[in-house]
Amino acid sequence: MKRLLNLVGSRNVRDEGTEQGDLLDRIAGFLRFHELETTRANLVRAHAALSGEDLHLARKIDEREREGLGITQLWLDSLVGRDEEAPADTSEFDLLRSNLDHSIESFSRTARTARSAATDYKIALSEHARTIDSTDTTGQLLASLADLTKALLERTRQAESEMKRSEREAATLRANLEKAQRAADLDHLTGLPNRRAFEGLLEHHYREARSQVEPLCVAFCDIDHFKPVNDTHGHETGDRVIQMIAQTLAQASNDNCHVARQGGDEFVLLFRGLTLAEAHAKLERVRERLADRSFVNRATDKPIGAITFSGGLADVFAYPDQRAALRAADEALYRAKGEGRNRVELAGPTA
Ligand code: GH3
Ligand code: MG
Repeated sequence: MKRLLNLVGSRNVRDEGTEQGDLLDRIAGFLRFHELETTRANLVRAHAALSGEDLHLARKIDEREREGLGITQLWLDSLVGRDEEAPADTSEFDLLRSNLDHSIESFSRTARTARSAATDYKIALSEHARTIDSTDTTGQLLASLADLTKALLERTRQAESEMKRSEREAATLRANLEKAQRAADLDHLTGLPNRRAFEGLLEHHYREARSQVEPLCVAFCDIDHFKPVNDTHGHETGDRVIQMIAQTLAQASNDNCHVARQGGDEFVLLFRGLTLAEAHAKLERVRERLADRSFVNRATDKPIGAITFSGGLADVFAYPDQRAALRAADEALYRAKGEGRNRVELAGPTA
């Protein structure tokens, strides 16, 4: 902790008045105020919450502070959930992927070039060897030249098969890399795209919808009173509830509607080509269908009762950028929670 504070102090970033410096100050102040250790995980969380990158976490911290409860390490860890304990360093992954991609590509190119050169060489050598072998008057010298050429041919053949093998290895490496890329984009509990993948989807649809003048909406949905489900029925049942909600929301998905797990018991949705009213109606239908059901813990046969979610929905193009729209949807979700839960609230107009 000291090192970070000293660094902030020595750069005198607050005086510079830069946003970055201000953020560093706030991160340091946050950790110090709540007596949290300066671990990598805490720094990542503090940065995510204070920079607005993780709206869910920011809201939870805000709620907790408003309730006058401390931000303890235990609370922070329990909030973040099992699958987020070690946040993936996506920038490192991306760098690794691009390096690997690059080296595989250049290796494959080299192997292809070398193999075709070897093939040409082999054809030429074969031709010479045939001529030398069939000439009666060549004598000892030409015979040994023929042996030499044959040995050379054998070496070339070996090199060629080595290169073919390397090419196959490169292809396998590429396939593994693609598999790893797909796995890095998936939430392993629900099989839905994760937050990282959702960011890519939003970026893609934002660009396309803007150029084709189509509506685009985003929504956050968060399971209501989910903690008691965990506390009463256990974490595994809680996991199954998250999976069930994921499937329920995913029923609404198609090429233009994407559902992703934002983290914990929260999901994020994207509706392309639907107006705010249409997206609202669609999400309301999912919510109502779910709220009408009653669940039983299949491991114990104990009733769980109804499981509902609250949602906040925003028209993306009503805001200056995607981030502002997400923030508005998150605020609407917060309102839905405050107004009794099991409802979907629409985001208000731009401030
Ligand atoms: P609210 O209606 O205000 O949303 O109340 P809540 O009880 O649902 O509160 P909150 O959304 O803050 O609780 C989320 C809980 O989800 C906290 C955390 O322990 C739990 N959680 C996070 N990730 C997982 C997970 O992968 N599996 C399980 N079983 N629980 C998780
Ligand atoms: Mg919840």
